[in-house]
Amino acid sequence: MRVYAATKNPGKLRELREIAAPYGIAIETWDAYADPEETADSYAGNAAIKARALHGQLAAAGVRAPVLADDSGLEISALGGRPGVHSARYAGAHATWPERRAEILREVAASGSEDRGARFVCVVCYIDAAGAEIYAEGIVGGELTRDERGELGFGYDPIFYEPSEHATFAQLSEKQKNSISHRAKAVHELVGKLETS
Ligand code: IMP
Repeated sequence: MRVYAATKNPGKLRELREIAAPYGIAIETWDAYADPEETADSYAGNAAIKARALHGQLAAAGVRAPVLADDSGLEISALGGRPGVHSARYAGAHATWPERRAEILREVAASGSEDRGARFVCVVCYIDAAGAEIYAEGIVGGELTRDERGELGFGYDPIFYEPSEHATFAQLSEKQKNSISHRAKAVHELVGKLETS
């Protein structure tokens, strides 16, 4: 089955492709797709905005195909769940990724909290060719590091430590990360729902 992914994020796209392949799902992209403004205050709401935008663009071009959008974020206990749905633009739309990661470590240090709890959350919105929507969620718990570790992955991976792997997500191979990540869990749940729908 071919599914179009509503994302311009190369890290997400690479992971989605690898996660979906064993289920027989080939992830396609649509060159004209541009990420719409994410105005919702929930992952599901923002995933829906992206998936509906791409579904509409495909329909306008005469393509009837299923689409998938992922909205995800990092939630830090000491920061009351921030950055959460605002993860992609935390510390400003023009901040670099090292700046965003440094800002989070600085804020947690400034909070004085000893709580290092953190989790990644991913909600996927799937829209079939006829327009029916299915949602699925994946969560992975871990800890916020005190400094950056690892060179792999993307986004907040260097500051997210996964205790059972004894490594940050940026120290895991793609295969390892994709076997335990929030994104993998969300896609797994989605496939289960597709099989029973
Ligand atoms: P959005 O889903 O496009 O709003 O962006 C989510 C943001 O959360 C990404 O740009 C990353 O900053 C962060 N994020 C989501 N998933 C991951 C992940 O697997 N690793 C690192 N950062 C992530």
